[in-house]
Amino acid sequence: MRPIVAIVGRPNVGKSTLVNRIAQTGEAIVHESRGVTRDRTYHQADWNGIEFDLVDTGGIEPLKSDDAFSGPIRDQALAAALEADAILFIVDGKTGATEEDESVARMLKRASVPLFLVVNKLDNPAREQEVLWEFYSLGVGEPHPISALHGHGTGDLLDELVAAL
Ligand code: GDP
Ligand code: MG
Repeated sequence: MRPIVAIVGRPNVGKSTLVNRIAQTGEAIVHESRGVTRDRTYHQADWNGIEFDLVDTGGIEPLKSDDAFSGPIRDQALAAALEADAILFIVDGKTGATEEDESVARMLKRASVPLFLVVNKLDNPAREQEVLWEFYSLGVGEPHPISALHGHGTGDLLDELVAAL
């Protein structure tokens, strides 16, 4: 079985853009408006000869309760995260960490698979250190800076990801 890597995060952080950068097959739909990718889509990828499937999701909407697993799981993205072998949790380096991100982080902390916090939209590598520190407060480990649009940081991220698969 090819390992499954779930791409999760709130809408509009650049999940589909990252999938399109990494995957060889299938086009993920990138859109200016929130919530365009409604369902899960699967995309084949490989890095340094290690094959895996990326799952693009519509974006985790925060649950009302902090206890994500006490109520019905009503979100595709959470379902994708739970079946994955690794999770890329994408946040937006331009907007900073939001309450929605904190809510998603609380859900994902319970995952038992490797979780990578990815700070996207850092198009200018020279400025990334200024914004990275604040994402430690999400409590899901070290933030990995990338620009899905330009490709900065994605090679280092993929090196770490496939080492964990
Ligand atoms: P999704 O809802 O998380 O799948 O987000 P999308 O991939 O659809 O992207 C939402 C918007 O963010 C689009 O306008 C993208 O072009 C933009 N975007 C994605 N990645 C980057 C990036 O690295 N830098 C910048 N500046 N914009 C980005
Ligand atoms: Mg999308």
